[in-house]
Amino acid sequence: MNNIVVIGSLNMDMVVKVDQIPKVGETVLGGAFKTIPGGKGANQAVAAARLNGNVSMIGRVGRDVFGEELLKNLQQENINTQGVTQDDEETTGIAMINVDKKGNNNIVVAPGANYKCIPQDIDAFENIVATAKVMVLQMEIPMETIEYGIKLAKKYNIKVILNPAPAVAIKKDILEDIYLLTPNETELEVLTGLKVSNEEETKTAAMELIKMGVKRVIVTLGDKGVMLVEKDEEQVIKGYKVKAVDTTAAGDSFTGALAVSLAEGKDLKEAILFANAVAALSVTREGAQTSLPNLEEVKTFIK
Ligand code: ATP
Repeated sequence: MNNIVVIGSLNMDMVVKVDQIPKVGETVLGGAFKTIPGGKGANQAVAAARLNGNVSMIGRVGRDVFGEELLKNLQQENINTQGVTQDDEETTGIAMINVDKKGNNNIVVAPGANYKCIPQDIDAFENIVATAKVMVLQMEIPMETIEYGIKLAKKYNIKVILNPAPAVAIKKDILEDIYLLTPNETELEVLTGLKVSNEEETKTAAMELIKMGVKRVIVTLGDKGVMLVEKDEEQVIKGYKVKAVDTTAAGDSFTGALAVSLAEGKDLKEAILFANAVAALSVTREGAQTSLPNLEEVKTFIK
């Protein structure tokens, strides 16, 4: 079994369509409203499961209606939810998302139970971690939990993909134990303190992460694809040309797809080409998990 363990957030996304994203202090009338299961952790878990990954999730939701719905949703995607703890006091995490006609979005997250996801939540399911080939983490749960997960992955020789979103500083000894770091350009700026507005600056900043001890960095560049930086080499791998409708979860679909390919033992380049295709397909559709393609759809798209 090519197991993938995703340790991260589960949120209920509350999505409103707007003509224009409101400015500070502005109120705008929105269009249709929907609740859609989300959270970077859950999105990446679903992205991988739809691509036939064998996925287990570790995380925390509230013992409330949204929590129940999120668990049910993951189970319907054939994800093992044994490692998702239900918190008796904290509410399930939510995200409020505005999407405009061009597919731009802005997002406010109330983490709720996600921030109660503690190292013991991973410890309790060490059996799940022990059988994984790839561990996927993001940064919508407490840092100490992320650090604990990465240490446990080291014990079992598991490849760690850290999607540093939302970005905050990461300890050097943790950076060294990550197989692959996948920031977008904004996150790369936060992690390095360097400006990233063109290819040269992207390369310089990614190299800075390599100097800090990271083994490989994939900077996602939106419609331009990605920049892969490893040791002292960098290359841009172009994305697919598509008509973007909603870029929510582009990064999540990309990371989930990478995890599946790496768990299958594919090399990194092949994994990136596959992940670019998956992510491109996801931006042609609305929403987070609603936009994540299955393997058949990706195969048809690539042909
Ligand atoms: P998000 O936060 O919206 O989930 P992100 O900022 O983490 O996304 P991006 O760099 O925007 O990540 O996109 C991730 C990947 O998705 C890109 O590397 C690319 O493969 C694909 N992608 C994103 N936008 C487009 C687009 N307009 N056309 C084709 N592919 C795209």
